[in-house]
Amino acid sequence: MALDQQQAAEFEARLRDRARQLRDEIRATLERSNDETHLEIAGRMRDAGDESFSALIVDLNLFDINRDADELRRIEAAMLRLKQGRFGECIDCGQEIPLERLEAEPTAARCVKCQELHEKTYVSPVTPTL
Ligand SMILES: [Zn+2]
Repeated sequence: MALDQQQAAEFEARLRDRARQLRDEIRATLERSNDETHLEIAGRMRDAGDESFSALIVDLNLFDINRDADELRRIEAAMLRLKQGRFGECIDCGQEIPLERLEAEPTAARCVKCQELHEKTYVSPVTPTL
């Protein structure tokens, strides 16, 4: 993809800002989850002492963190592609990803066709349904 220097700089700034935001969110979730977990455990211990419930809370909090961490990994990969001059190239077929798609989703690593194929082949473990 022939991104000019200004476009590349704009994508880099967007990716960097989003990465910073995600790191803040992950940190905030971690800090918050500590307090909530302690409160929940305290409440449950008083009522029934069910250990599996506190384990469930920990899992739920980790799920939030995993989702953010997953996006952060995609952003880091996109920034690496930007540095290598391969940003906007489908990682599967090498075709150009339309600028429109990149504007909407700067972390897009595949063209629409390959992305659909990828999603059919690998069911994403991060599919929030609740
Ligand atoms: Zn492709």
